[in-house]
Amino acid sequence: SEEASLLSDPNRKSRELYERACEVMPGGVTANIKYFEPHPIMMEKGKGSKLFDVDGNEYIDYLLCYGALIHGHGNEPVMKAVYDQLANQGTTIFGTPHDLEVKMAEKLIELYPGIDMVRYTNSGLEATLLAVRTAMAYTEKDKIAKFEGHYHGGSNQFLLSVNPDIEKSGTEDEPVAVPESTGISSHEVEHTIILPFNNMDATERILRKQADELAAIILEPVQGGFIPADEEFIIGLRKLTNELGILLIFDEVKTGFRTSLGGCQEIFGVKPDLTALGKVLGGGFPVGAVGGRKDIMMISAPNGGRDILSAGEHSAGKKEILFHSGTYNGHPTVLAAGLATIQALEESNQMQKLCDRTKLLRQKLEEVYQRQGVDMQTIGMGSIFNIVLTKETVKNYRDLQKANMSLRKVIDHELLLQGIYTKPLNRYSMSTAHTEEDIAKTVEIHEKALKKIRG
Ligand code: PLP
Repeated sequence: SEEASLLSDPNRKSRELYERACEVMPGGVTANIKYFEPHPIMMEKGKGSKLFDVDGNEYIDYLLCYGALIHGHGNEPVMKAVYDQLANQGTTIFGTPHDLEVKMAEKLIELYPGIDMVRYTNSGLEATLLAVRTAMAYTEKDKIAKFEGHYHGGSNQFLLSVNPDIEKSGTEDEPVAVPESTGISSHEVEHTIILPFNNMDATERILRKQADELAAIILEPVQGGFIPADEEFIIGLRKLTNELGILLIFDEVKTGFRTSLGGCQEIFGVKPDLTALGKVLGGGFPVGAVGGRKDIMMISAPNGGRDILSAGEHSAGKKEILFHSGTYNGHPTVLAAGLATIQALEESNQMQKLCDRTKLLRQKLEEVYQRQGVDMQTIGMGSIFNIVLTKETVKNYRDLQKANMSLRKVIDHELLLQGIYTKPLNRYSMSTAHTEEDIAKTVEIHEKALKKIRG
């Protein structure tokens, strides 16, 4: 009868567990983004490219913990590094400095052109927050600029115009800040300038007007992980920020280790002043890091800091130091997982192979949608892409709104039922564990789903 009930409702256990979750967590979830209708699927196990839910259903996973799991689930070298680290260190954490912090920092400096020094955090959000505080301290200015449609984590100063209602967002040339949440103060709205991505003329006009107050511009060099900056745009932005004395922060939390080993800064050949990293860096454990120019990073050194210059007078011997702390920063087990993750990417050209396999999947998916007569393009870079249901050029948030989101939702729901895990409307991330067989099956399921939907 267990079998019969699963046949009639293949998600029965997920639904029942979700009903219990709703009693103890608002909406039954612990991050709003994890919710979708009719109810989220509760997972029980992961292996390679696959996720298995509490009802025993199997999925090819393209969410991969929002991109973090670049080697898929339970990668052997990563798991072994974690077990070995725990066994050898004889504790869960030291709470003191240790060698893996140094090793990881040396690795990041080797790979990322814009990184001379590193500090660790426990999430991507903490990294973007620290980058912005560092920029404000260094420049002694207190506004930041961000681009419409860009996500930098769930804090007040970044939760503006991430996914806004266009009706309330002003014009493309002069976007206005729209809060993404209740509980965001007018201070944050006033201190965050919104810019239009891939639109240099309007960006330049806004920046020139605000330059005296702007500490930094923060951006995702590939918006949402899939809409790349035009090369001309990002090179222009670097020149302009240098001229205007505004720091340039690359948020490479998604793109780090995914567009290339050295992130977008390596690909574009543009050195940001500060970089935020996360996701892949922790091999599936919570992590973040800020890296950047030595003279900027050194303002947080407790034995360094910066001479205080006030009202034109040099207050001899006085230092100003940027505060940065965190009980779990540089967690040894997390860094062991991260180092093993990076090492496995560097071996036998894995990064290139991963990007090639992603390209193959994109190409095959485009063929399926064309065969089925659905307007679609894949957009992305390296090992991340998205399925965008429009033939029009997509360069920014506003272009994206013109795609057929409602059809995409229906497709995603059908894919879920047939064994492909994508959080509805989310981008696709690939892993080194995804095989050609997975690709063939993914393409076949898409074709079946499209046929069914278009009846
Ligand atoms: N920045 C970007 C570009 C991200 O994609 C994310 C998370 O998705 C963050 C920052 C925040 O990272 P975390 O969720 O680890 O706080």
